[in-house]
Amino acid sequence: MRIGGRHAKKEVEEALDYAHNHNWTVTQTAAGHRWGVARCGQGCSVSIWSTPQNPGNHAKAIRRAVDKCPHVTAPETEDDSHAGV
Ligand SMILES: [Zn+2]
Repeated sequence: MRIGGRHAKKEVEEALDYAHNHNWTVTQTAAGHRWGVARCGQGCSVSIWSTPQNPGNHAKAIRRAVDKCPHVTAPETEDDSHAGV
């Protein structure tokens, strides 16, 4: 589920799609420097910054949080080959 708009940074936006594709809920809260939050719904969450110093690194951190979530089943076809494109 995605609540709110798109992220301005392409790398982060792709990571949010990645989270979304893994059944995470992405919620835009737009409070200060925090763009929003992504949650698996069963305990894991990761903050999304609106203006990360390094969008690529921030995107990776979001993907990492999704990857290490033990609660939702990741599609086996997903790979990292498109990361950072
Ligand atoms: Zn989780």
